[in-house]
Amino acid sequence: MKKKINRQLLFTSSMTVFITFVIVVSVFYQIFQGQVIEDLRTYAHVLADFENIQNSEQIEYDFSVDNVRITIITSEGVVVYDSNADIGKMDNHSERPEVKEALAHGEGQSIRQSSTMNMSTYYYTVLLKDGNVLRVARESHSIWSIIYRALPVIVLTLVALGVVCVVLSHFITKSLVAPIEKMAADMDHITDVNVYEELVPFAETIQQQHDAILKNTNMRQEFTANVSHELKTPLAAISGYSELIENGMASGDDVVRFAAGIHQSANRLLVLINDIIRLSELDVMEQEIPFETISLYDIVRDSVDMLQVRAENRNVILTMEGSPCNILGDRQMIEELIYNLCDNAICYNNVGGSVHVMVETRNGHPILEVKDTGIGIPKKHQERIFERFYRVDKSRSKSTGGTGLGLAIVKHIVAVHEAEMKLESEVGKGTDILITFQRNVETLV
Ligand code: ADP
Repeated sequence: MKKKINRQLLFTSSMTVFITFVIVVSVFYQIFQGQVIEDLRTYAHVLADFENIQNSEQIEYDFSVDNVRITIITSEGVVVYDSNADIGKMDNHSERPEVKEALAHGEGQSIRQSSTMNMSTYYYTVLLKDGNVLRVARESHSIWSIIYRALPVIVLTLVALGVVCVVLSHFITKSLVAPIEKMAADMDHITDVNVYEELVPFAETIQQQHDAILKNTNMRQEFTANVSHELKTPLAAISGYSELIENGMASGDDVVRFAAGIHQSANRLLVLINDIIRLSELDVMEQEIPFETISLYDIVRDSVDMLQVRAENRNVILTMEGSPCNILGDRQMIEELIYNLCDNAICYNNVGGSVHVMVETRNGHPILEVKDTGIGIPKKHQERIFERFYRVDKSRSKSTGGTGLGLAIVKHIVAVHEAEMKLESEVGKGTDILITFQRNVETLV
């Protein structure tokens, strides 16, 4: 991070220095050129007004002393006077741009590169009254020489900038990272750290994840404790009964009674372990189950048929009605869902009570409703009964072979199928659980 900030700072400031340098040099050079030309123009105008200049033979002043060169050229381009050179060796000047310009417009100017790279020669020409052209010229610094002179300052500035950038990026990084380090130091109070506005969503997400992990860990620990506790009772019973038989303390009918106790506890263990395994499987599976089109109506009808014996044993009337409808889902899970709901409706019912199961399409959504006239669930327990091992009445649940896991499995299956579940219950009147599936597959193309 420090390196990146350093690099970006250095790049931005170097670019700024460079662009400023180019702009300043070019503006300055423009002004400088304008000034040199302006001076030459003044010289040319002053000189043109002198009588002597009309007659080149009478010029006596050594103009080279002032670094100003004077040339007089005829309209044919022949050099008749030059303050710095031998006119005999000079070629025809009629093609020089400044001479051409003066002959055409009365005045002219041009700038040409000198023999040395860092100098330029500036020319200014005026057409004299006698038809000759007076040219005033001087050598001055070219743009390269200006750049060359400015270079040490630029290099020094860049070096200074580099140092400033290193120091700055060190402090910027430190102050940028400080809140993040603070957040990492105390994950429990991440959102309490005073962070930048931009980091707030990040901090909130981390906090949520952190809370979720904590909650998950707590739930797992609680689940493990509950599982151990639930396994302990039937195991203790099995151990107790078998010890009595082993020690010869049971005789005749007792042995049969104890064996029945062992059998019942072993069955309970099996049911419990089955439910635990099922829940762990569902925990791992989540969304990866390949769904198929299944007939909700047929599955419910078969399950209800299967549960009739159980209902009769408890003197409960189990009925079903509805119309055929299909869903996208997992057959085994839907069977488990119906079994768990109906089994609860039968078990937590009164003698002579009834359970009514309904399957149909409502507003384009397949629904499954299990309604009983049973004991009902008190309001304060209604939210919690879907938790693992949560029971309203422990002894009643155990006496009916309940594990406290049935509705946790139901909740899981409903979530996997992206369905919705609604519970309505009144103590003494009964319970109504309504599950609404996403859509009726038949209505899809
Ligand atoms: P269990 O194995 O104990 O039935 P569940 O998870 O299936 O466990 O149900 C949790 C608790 O919810 C039950 O112990 C019971 O107290 C209550 N419950 C569930 N279904 C009904 C119902 N139809 N009527 C009354 N109480 C119910």
